[in-house]
Amino acid sequence: MSGPIDEIKKERERFVAFAFAAAEIFFELNDKGKIVFEGGAAERIGSTSESLIGEQLIDQIDEEDRDVFRALQQHLAHKGRIGPIPLRFKSSSGRSIALRLFALQMPGEDSHTFLALRAAPLGGAGGVDIATDPETGLMQRETFMEMATRTMKENPAGNNLYMTAIEVEGIEDAKKKFGPKYMRHLLKQVAAHLKTLSVDGEIAGQIDEKHFAFLHRAKSDGSQLGSSLKKVDENVQLKTAYSTMASDLTEGSEDQILRTLSYVLNQFCKDPKSVSFENLSVAYEDMVTEAQRRVVQIRHMIESGSFKMAFQPVVSLSTNEVHHNEVLSRFDDRMGDSSTLDVIRFAEDVGIIEEFDIALCHKAIDYVRKMKKLGTPLTLGINISGRTLDSGRFTDNLIKELTAGNDVSRHILLELTETAAIENLERVEAILNDLKANGYRICLDDFGVGAAGYQYLRAFNVDFVKIDGSYVDDMNSPGYRPTFLLSIVRLCNDLGVKTIGEHVENRFQADFLRSLGVDFAQGYHYGKPDYSPRTE
Ligand code: C2E
Ligand code: CA
Ligand code: CA
Repeated sequence: MSGPIDEIKKERERFVAFAFAAAEIFFELNDKGKIVFEGGAAERIGSTSESLIGEQLIDQIDEEDRDVFRALQQHLAHKGRIGPIPLRFKSSSGRSIALRLFALQMPGEDSHTFLALRAAPLGGAGGVDIATDPETGLMQRETFMEMATRTMKENPAGNNLYMTAIEVEGIEDAKKKFGPKYMRHLLKQVAAHLKTLSVDGEIAGQIDEKHFAFLHRAKSDGSQLGSSLKKVDENVQLKTAYSTMASDLTEGSEDQILRTLSYVLNQFCKDPKSVSFENLSVAYEDMVTEAQRRVVQIRHMIESGSFKMAFQPVVSLSTNEVHHNEVLSRFDDRMGDSSTLDVIRFAEDVGIIEEFDIALCHKAIDYVRKMKKLGTPLTLGINISGRTLDSGRFTDNLIKELTAGNDVSRHILLELTETAAIENLERVEAILNDLKANGYRICLDDFGVGAAGYQYLRAFNVDFVKIDGSYVDDMNSPGYRPTFLLSIVRLCNDLGVKTIGEHVENRFQADFLRSLGVDFAQGYHYGKPDYSPRTE
């Protein structure tokens, strides 16, 4: 007695044996997606506890996750097996239950699908809740890089692991043509395919609007994703470019992997065609070479003084008069198209920010002197990295530079940025006190972002606190409550410290800050950074 029915039975037996080892619930579906067999604790699924035989499996899946299941069905035909992938199912309690799904399709004419489901959390995520976009289920850039790094580091030697970065062209167009709702629908489809192919159905992220990345086990998954995305929508032709590289930095430190991923993804977002690394070690070598080139460039720029100062007014909220101008550095074309923040962060990362800070002090002091001579005195706020005050090698040079500027110290405010780098509070406190005795005024920058802000406020005898711009940005969101701002302002008032609000872009924000008792404001509402300072 042998025929197709027997074959299926054998397959089922194999599957049931496999499923028992790992799964709590299992289903067999026919080629139309209908449930033909159920086993284990199948009664946990479905809106009643009745048998599900004869029902469509997709109807038992939470509406939110149906796209993922559809994508899975497509890829299953190629791959034979997929999973585990997190999927939410309907249950008779009305609440959906989150399960890990493992799908298997035997090769052959009869394309029955076998599904094994289990509730246990995956090891990969370490059981911790990871931040994902509630709508697409994709991780955001930073989370993705962190999770990818961890997965790469823990990947056993000999186990294939790849990362693919992918650019999807057409999502923005869909928004213009069919509206934001349609775009979100499309985005969910893209996300569904990404999750289906990714390791554990989880290591997939959205890097920015049109860039995505995911980890996977088979080298060909990248091209497969590309071709399946082309078919996602009839109305919108999604065009893709992608780049796949093998994970081979397992011997490196987590930091090394993380930096390499960040480098690769940045490059890819700028120009997908420029990224063609066979594996991450090659990308790492490339990053190191590029970093050396940049260090040489920045050093040269520092030595030749060929960077520029832009000025942005800081205005009194009570009199509307300009109190001082913050100096924001600008770099010329030789630095490529990197923004100020890029260059500064890089300089901080590789440890050349100290030399830059000292060069800027020199330039700013010169400028203040020159303006004084011209009969148009002004006050400047200059950014100094906490690192420069705390690193033995450069502190002396900074103090020398500032001491030489004592004649104009009353016209200079030192904004302490990147305070995370400060280790020796007492030493920095002593330096700041000396500088203050010489007439310099001190401002704590970006207050409210790092956890240590309050600690610095207590330890250092500062004159101003600049509240981080994110608190002002937040004012525009619905349901905004100024609890935190109020407590900063009260504390500063008690300590006799003046407060500055930055990123003030409209009148509403200015009025709000004034009503809270903030003393000064800075932002596009008063003036963008400009090469000539506003003094009146
Ligand atoms: P920061 O000190 O927080 O400077 C404020 C940043 O916000 C500036 O960006 C400025 O252009 C921007 N900004 C000004 N008004 C508004 C507004 O109304 N809305 C919004 N959204 N943004 C506004 P920029 O010039 O790109 O500088 C970025 C960061 O780079 C600065 O942040 C500072 O941390 C650092 N930086 C800039 N110049 C220097 C420097 O000479 N030395 C050091 N150590 N750091 C610098
Ligand atoms: Ca600043
Ligand atoms: Ca800031």
